[in-house]
Order: sequence, then C-alpha cells, then structure tokens
Amino acid sequence: MVYYENLAEMYVGDDVSPDFYGWVFPKCDHVAVGTGTVTHKGDIKKFQLATRNRARDKILGGKIIRVEAHPIPEHPRPRRLLGRVALVGDAAGYVTKCSGEGIYFAAKSGRMCAEAIVEGSGNGKRMVDESDLRRYFGEMGQGILAYI
Ligand SMILES: Cc1cc2nc3c(=O)[nH]c(=O)nc-3n(C[C@H](O)[C@H](O)[C@H](O)COP(=O)(O)OP(=O)(O)OC[C@H]3O[C@@H](n4cnc5c(N)ncnc54)[C@H](O)[C@@H]3O)c2cc1C
Repeated sequence: MVYYENLAEMYVGDDVSPDFYGWVFPKCDHVAVGTGTVTHKGDIKKFQLATRNRARDKILGGKIIRVEAHPIPEHPRPRRLLGRVALVGDAAGYVTKCSGEGIYFAAKSGRMCAEAIVEGSGNGKRMVDESDLRRYFGEMGQGILAYI
C-alpha cells in the first residue's frame, strides 16, 4: 500500500488484457490489482496473474485478502425503486455500454435522487415515500437513460 498511497497505475498490453487494461488502484488501506476484458473472458485469470507480475516489485510482501470479479453494470436494473429505497450509480446499472463510463452518471443520478428527496420532504420536514422518489426516476428516464 505504501507505494500506492498517492498513485494509481494502469498497464496495457496483450498479457494483461487484449481489449482493456490492467490496474493497481489504492483503496483506503489496501490496493486493488485488477484487469478487465470483454473479448477474452475465459482468460481473465491469466490476465490477472500477468497484472500481478507487472506490479510484482511494488506489491512484494503483500497478501491477497480477497479475489472478486464483477460484470460491468451496463444495463439499467429492471427494478430500481422499492418503498423508500432507490438505486443510483452502478447499483442502478448506469454505466454506458459503449465506453464503460459510470462516474458522471453515478454523480448525476445521486444528485437527482437527493434533489427529489429534498423536494419531496419539503426540505426535511416530512418523510418521503415511493411517489416522491418516482420523480427522480421520471427525470432519469427523460435524461440520463436516453443517453445510456
Ligand atoms: C477499472 C475500472 C475503470 C473504470 N474507468 C472509468 C472511467 O474511466 N470513467 C468512468 O466514468 N467510469 C469508469 N469506471 C466505472 C466507475 O468507476 C463506476 O461507474 C463508478 O465508480 C460508480 O460509482 P458508484 O458511486 O455508483 O459506485 P462505487 O464507486 O462502486 O461506490 C460504492 C461504494 O459503496 C461502498 N460499499 C459497498 N458495500 C457497502 C456496504 N455494505 N456498506 C458501506 N459501503 C459499502 C464501496 O466500498 C464503494 O466505496 C471504471 C470502473 C473500473 C472498475
């Protein structure tokens, strides 16, 4: 972690991923060493090992605390609202299919949902319900989802 406290690394090349890249990202008190691919999913373990090898000298002595894999959430979830629970960002599936971008949509959907809560609650004077949160999804439908 020490080496990566203020640093993130990206690795490119067929060994780490033929269509994406490998990375080492600092995450609070540990690093995430990962790689992504759309075209060669069956080789993901091979790419993961290669990414670890590329960063070998800098992560020497570190221990693996978790191994995980996730699909990119590029499909809006069919159900994103239930009662007073509303999903935003990756949880809602707001990543663009073409570019893999999700930061903007996570921030934007979070803000839109928060604004709907502030408005629906009369600035915190009453509890919101599902109908208040529906306003957020109505606006998402007209705006962001059209883009995604
Ligand atoms: C390798 C890689 C590269 C990417 N590159 C780009 C890029 O160039 N441009 C771009 O726009 N997007 C990119 N993305 C996608 C982008 O990172 C995500 O779309 C975005 O971070 C989603 O934000 P989010 O807030 O919805 O979720 P997250 O950023 O995943 O935040 C969720 C947070 O919740 C925390 N959490 C989880 N469970 C719990 C729990 N039970 N209790 C408390 N906290 C919890 C997690 O630790 C995390 O901090 C990339 C993603 C990856 C993996």
